[in-house]
Amino acid sequence: MKAYFDNAATTAVDEAVFEKMRPYFTDIYGNTQSVHSVGRKATAALDEARDKIAKIINASYKEIYFTSGGTEADNTAIKSVALASTKKKIIVSSIEHSAVLAAAKDLAEIGYDVSYLRPNEDGIITVEELASKISGDVAIVSVMYANNETGVINPIRELASLAHSYGAYFHTDAVQAAPSISLDVTELGVDLMTISAHKIHGPKGIGCLYVKEGVKKKSLISGGFQERGFRGGTVNLPLVVGFSEALESNDELLEERAEKIRYVSDYFESRVEEIEGVKVNFKGSPRVPTISSVEFPVNGQSLLTMLDLNGVSASQGSACTAGSVLPSHVLKECGLTEKEILGSVRFSFSYQNDREEVDFVIDLLKEYLNKNKKK
Ligand code: PLP
Repeated sequence: MKAYFDNAATTAVDEAVFEKMRPYFTDIYGNTQSVHSVGRKATAALDEARDKIAKIINASYKEIYFTSGGTEADNTAIKSVALASTKKKIIVSSIEHSAVLAAAKDLAEIGYDVSYLRPNEDGIITVEELASKISGDVAIVSVMYANNETGVINPIRELASLAHSYGAYFHTDAVQAAPSISLDVTELGVDLMTISAHKIHGPKGIGCLYVKEGVKKKSLISGGFQERGFRGGTVNLPLVVGFSEALESNDELLEERAEKIRYVSDYFESRVEEIEGVKVNFKGSPRVPTISSVEFPVNGQSLLTMLDLNGVSASQGSACTAGSVLPSHVLKECGLTEKEILGSVRFSFSYQNDREEVDFVIDLLKEYLNKNKKK
């Protein structure tokens, strides 16, 4: 048996999504900038995809900018707004994905003042925390919707509203929220939002940045007039079509899929806690059902190796640099000790998982932990 519990890293492309993309490689291969009929067919498909995505997130098609994924969208959000502003301060949370943290660091290196919002012990970035750091000279605030390591959901609407009262723009990285929470930019009150296709059973290498009309922004990729001059470069139409199809299925089946994921992940969490010394992190916090961070009384990396050898994929939410594993900055910021961090493993679910796979991994964990009681 095999079980894939690393859906926060990436998901399998839906068969139907893949089939929708296929003709755009071989038949409808025109350049969306070409004015002849082959190009016009491609442009029509691009417009349709953009329109579809805009409707799903309750935006206008003019507010959707395709990017090469979440990383580019996060970088673009922060840098394009900061560079267009006369204000030289930005605020990001300390538990952001490295795409946001590294973009903020880039800005710090050219003279911007970066402040970091710290999570409380429940892993949440609170309104009080933002209130203690914000001032009238902040260009943009960026706080993720759901964290990719803990699954904890942040109070985006309230944070965005506070940022606005100080005249700052607000960006949210909704990459990990998308598989289980509906994304309505008007309801959330955000100015910019990042989505990535490959976390919702779409292709890798494509995503979008929603930018509310009127937000002042500077283009980062100069070139042709693609994406209304905001991002030069020939549009990758097959990926755009795949993204829009994946987001459409995700939206139409959101409740059904989220319910199925919860059915499996709740079962996983209750069964894993039957094992002595095992604890689900952030249990009482508002969380997406797709992500469970679990603390084991053994070294997480060794446990992951054992799981991998037995056909189970999961991960430790940490970055690997030159072969060495760095302890997760997210769990550290949330107040876990180094021992707790090293024993923590992330299991992340999609609608494709089932309870039989959970039983399989629980048996493996029980056997392994019985043999290796100490870290
Ligand atoms: N933001 C979050 C929260 C993520 O989890 C990821 C992917 O791991 C990204 C951004 C980056 O997205 P992409 O892989 O599309 O560049």
